[in-house]
Amino acid sequence: EVSEVRKEKVYIVGGIVRDLLLGIENFDLDIVVEGNGMNFAKELGEKLNAKKVVLHSKFRTGVVIVDEKLKIDVASSRVEYYEYPTSLPVVEYGNIKQDLYRRDFTINAMAIEIDYNKFGRLIDYFKGYSDLKNGKIRILHNFSFVEDPTRIIRGIRFAVRYNFEFDAETKRFAKLSVEEGFLKRLTWKRVKYEIELILNEKNPKKAIYMLEEYGVLKAIHKSIKLTKKTEVAFKNLEKYKEYITKLNLKQWIVYFLVLLEDLNSEELTNIFFKFHFPNKFIEKYKFGKIKREKIIDELKSSEKKSKIYNSLKKLSGDLILLLLITVDSEKEENKILEYINEIRNIKPLIMGKDLIKLGYKPNENFKNILNISFMYQLDNQELCKEELLQYIK
Ligand code: ATP
Repeated sequence: EVSEVRKEKVYIVGGIVRDLLLGIENFDLDIVVEGNGMNFAKELGEKLNAKKVVLHSKFRTGVVIVDEKLKIDVASSRVEYYEYPTSLPVVEYGNIKQDLYRRDFTINAMAIEIDYNKFGRLIDYFKGYSDLKNGKIRILHNFSFVEDPTRIIRGIRFAVRYNFEFDAETKRFAKLSVEEGFLKRLTWKRVKYEIELILNEKNPKKAIYMLEEYGVLKAIHKSIKLTKKTEVAFKNLEKYKEYITKLNLKQWIVYFLVLLEDLNSEELTNIFFKFHFPNKFIEKYKFGKIKREKIIDELKSSEKKSKIYNSLKKLSGDLILLLLITVDSEKEENKILEYINEIRNIKPLIMGKDLIKLGYKPNENFKNILNISFMYQLDNQELCKEELLQYIK
């Protein structure tokens, strides 16, 4: 209706078209207007009674925030030129065909007209629909990866997500581009962003194998590679995947840390620094890594809950999960599971105020008594609070 008043052609484009045709839910609504996207967004916002409309005059785009769930990105159809490979593109205005030509893969370069004129017409200049049906990831032109090497990682992400494969030419160009070192021209921020996205997908293990096949892992750091150890860890991680949520962890970080398993301290520092991991995280990780052997040894001689608790309590969630998937004895594996599923959730029954009631003065010993009481509680789960107080007395 807005397009009818403004006499402009309007399209939904990119991921939403791909997923519509695949019958997959997608709530990222991208609209392209052959005209002024900013003014269109303003009017659309009014028409939809949107909560907010954010405009970017520099790019003639707008975001219509309809409500908490629905957000519509509106852009003016555009052509982008790269002044030199990996530079930010220079933007000019054009028609929908030019807009689609700047996109990454044929399956992402389709549009559906949604204006008053031809509502529902599929615009498919590059045989994207055919590639979608045949499960192919195909670039639009030979310089695609030169222009933007992140597309190599994006392509792998889509291939894994939809179980598609690279078309032969695209595969050759992708591998060649990695060999030529194009990924090294990207900023670490962009690499991290793509790695984060791909490792947060449903099947990160498959993605990692494909990243290895295309030489992307090695391009991130020469020491990152799949080894027997990491392969076993990834297999175990699939078994314990639910623990990522249970321990409140980020999936991509866990998979990334497994990839770094065989790296030495210097290499780790280098990567953590480039990926901007917070210092606190790095310290905790390194602490856990250094203590790892010792903790496993401790666990071997720990049958009591209190001992298991003391061995594992200082480790961050990531490290506990890493320990779980790399430990080579079932007995110790079970102890770590016991810690995650049970021990770490036990709350102390005796608190400071209970000791005060018993007549203790809050002094240095106070903390020790509370600690001893908690250890006793862990090893004697059947005891109630009264019985524990008796023990303290
Ligand atoms: P997802 O479902 O993961 O969000 P998407 O295709 O919607 O996938 P976006 O990153 O939101 O991914 O990009 C939207 C569209 O913009 C893509 O479908 C593609 O047409 C285009 N696009 C995104 N990134 C690039 C890129 N690096 N090079 C070229 N085109 C891109």
